[in-house]
Amino acid sequence: MLSTLAAAVVVGHSAGGRPIELLHIAGAGPRVLVVGCIHGNEPAGIAIVRALERTHAHADLWVVPVLNPDGLARGARQNADGIDLNRNFAAGWRSFGPPWSVFAAGPRPFSEPETRVARDLIRRIRPQYTVWYHQHLDLVWAYGRSSRAGRRYAELAGMRFRHRRWLDGSATNWQNHLPGGGASFTVELPAGSLDEAAVGRHVRAVLGLAAP
Ligand SMILES: [Zn+2]
Repeated sequence: MLSTLAAAVVVGHSAGGRPIELLHIAGAGPRVLVVGCIHGNEPAGIAIVRALERTHAHADLWVVPVLNPDGLARGARQNADGIDLNRNFAAGWRSFGPPWSVFAAGPRPFSEPETRVARDLIRRIRPQYTVWYHQHLDLVWAYGRSSRAGRRYAELAGMRFRHRRWLDGSATNWQNHLPGGGASFTVELPAGSLDEAAVGRHVRAVLGLAAP
């Protein structure tokens, strides 16, 4: 039942020079992009994307296991420049404070190599669904045109749903204002790491987005 493992392609480098990898698990269904980790101190989603890489996809799956390898390496929210990547996108961008402050948004939108990698990838793939993993609120957060997909994911994963406007400068905010109508939302996993059963629920929820 195991499909051939997709090969990772390096699509760019972090501010600290670490590679950012992309895997494509080709399938006939809708294009689904999944980002396992954007805040380096919120790594639980990586287990889900690693499991997704081994599925026989009912979707055309695109996976970025770690968009913030610098943060992951040092257990920090920010990248090596001290920037919160999820405040660095060009939608409602504003300065939240200097580098290494909690929500440091950078000197301008897309100032960071990691967010430019994400931007270029999203423009190229034009995903119909994008899932961003975070921690530790233990809920699915969606708004506007992504609410339906977010609710469906929450139902499939057995999580609470939060309907609330997007944060300034966040990836979801930027994507939800792109033409084309794709859904993009945040899955806030609980604190700690996921057990095998939980990983399985999230894999089914991702694949369920693409199911008819
Ligand atoms: Zn986060």
